[in-house]
Amino acid sequence: MKYEAVIGLEVHAQLLTNSKVFCGCSTKFGAEANTQVCPVCLGMPGTLPVLNKTAVEYAIKMALATHCRINNKSIFARKNYFYPDLPKGYQISQYNEPLTQKGYIDIEVNGAEKRIGITRIHMEEDAGKLLHGESYEDADFSFVDLNRAGVPLIEIVSEPDIRNSEEAVEYLKSLRDILVYLEICDGNMEEGSFRCDANVSIRPVGQKEFGTKAELKNMNSFRFVQKAIEYEINRQIEVIEDGGKVIQETRLFDSDKGVTVSMRSKEEAHDYRYFPEPDLLPLQVDEAWIEKIKASLPELPAEKRERFVKDYGIPSYDAGVLCASKELANYYEECIEKYEGQGARGKGQETAAAKNVSNWIMGELLRLLKEDNKEAKGCPVQPETLVKLIKMVDAGTINQKTAKEVFEEVYKTGKEPEAVVKEKGLVQISDEGALFKVLDAVIAANPKEAAEYKAGKEKLFTFFVGQTMKATKGQANPQVLNKLVKERLAK
Ligand code: ADP
Ligand code: MG
Ligand code: ZN
Repeated sequence: MKYEAVIGLEVHAQLLTNSKVFCGCSTKFGAEANTQVCPVCLGMPGTLPVLNKTAVEYAIKMALATHCRINNKSIFARKNYFYPDLPKGYQISQYNEPLTQKGYIDIEVNGAEKRIGITRIHMEEDAGKLLHGESYEDADFSFVDLNRAGVPLIEIVSEPDIRNSEEAVEYLKSLRDILVYLEICDGNMEEGSFRCDANVSIRPVGQKEFGTKAELKNMNSFRFVQKAIEYEINRQIEVIEDGGKVIQETRLFDSDKGVTVSMRSKEEAHDYRYFPEPDLLPLQVDEAWIEKIKASLPELPAEKRERFVKDYGIPSYDAGVLCASKELANYYEECIEKYEGQGARGKGQETAAAKNVSNWIMGELLRLLKEDNKEAKGCPVQPETLVKLIKMVDAGTINQKTAKEVFEEVYKTGKEPEAVVKEKGLVQISDEGALFKVLDAVIAANPKEAAEYKAGKEKLFTFFVGQTMKATKGQANPQVLNKLVKERLAK
């Protein structure tokens, strides 16, 4: 029997407001425990929540960017449960009437576009954080830090439109890109400002009804999401092949072992006893405000990709790589700007320069950043420095191969390209006399090959170019060298 997976994701994104969602406390990450709290977020009796308007604005931004409908009236609800990190005994969330619903985003997997539906995006507050004994000297205690209690979140719930782990990761990456582009969430998975629960079920291919789902938690990187989903799909297939039944439960991903383990079954699931929050009025947003927010939206990843293809004439693959992060896209555009005058912007022939810059970034720069575990944001080479290097190639001072070595040195030492070239004596040899000398020595050392070439074995052309290049330690100007080899070995 062949099976197909059905996956729906629930994403929690922490909004980048300065203050919490129902009080004025700071949301800054990393402060000393319990220094950013007040009677409201500590859940003291008699206090009243006041909604943070910026948090609503950010939620609306995300809704607009994901084609969601925005409800002019929505309701906050109490989600009741007891836990030490939740001083009120309930979380303020939205339930029946969320702020926004019924949207979608388009993702691309293996070259094919796919639309993933978004069921709803609602607003809620975060809980505090429990710190368990092992990180402290006295392992007998757990500690609670309420700095995070009341920090604004949006929960983005997808339709069960996702069919495998790759699509899940692409969907998550696209969501995160949009949030980061909108500057409403930092997208940091390790610090927990972008968290994902995955609902996974399987069904025989061709069957319409969904199977019973398991909900996976505790995956704090894209790789873990992918691994957890893959493990879970295989686990469910095995259960069914063995004649068993998948039960509805919550499972935790153990990243050390690469497995999911049962946390609680449906029977132990919470009954949250949702009811409308009596301390907050229904949230009303008017069309004029929505229009104003719409007008303030920045260029989104998909739009930027399209513009890069159109304006710079680079392939859509390049645009996809460059626009994967806003910083990298900015880096590219800064390079193009610095390159200006060399004709990088524009149509036709001039786009060769734009593609050249793209090649440098996609190739050498991303390779070094990856080795270094860095993103464009922390790139030690400034755009103008990269452009200086590219211009040295354009001017014929160094060749492409040498430029790559120089770039690595520039990346690692922070030196200027000119300085590295000078220091290491890497200036390209374009002088015909000097190159002839080396070439003649190569020909003299390989008389058999020279004779064969003259007799018509044209393949040997690259042999002579290669040997001469090697003898100059890669510093020969390839155009000049090609010309000289042709001249010297002319029939
Ligand atoms: P619950 O009430 O258990 O939280 P929801 O209906 O709210 O379930 O759905 C939560 C998430 O699970 C959504 O992202 C949804 O797309 C997904 N989902 C629902 N049913 C299934 C299923 N059978 N298999 C996989 N995912 C599912
Ligand atoms: Mg749910
Ligand atoms: Zn507070």
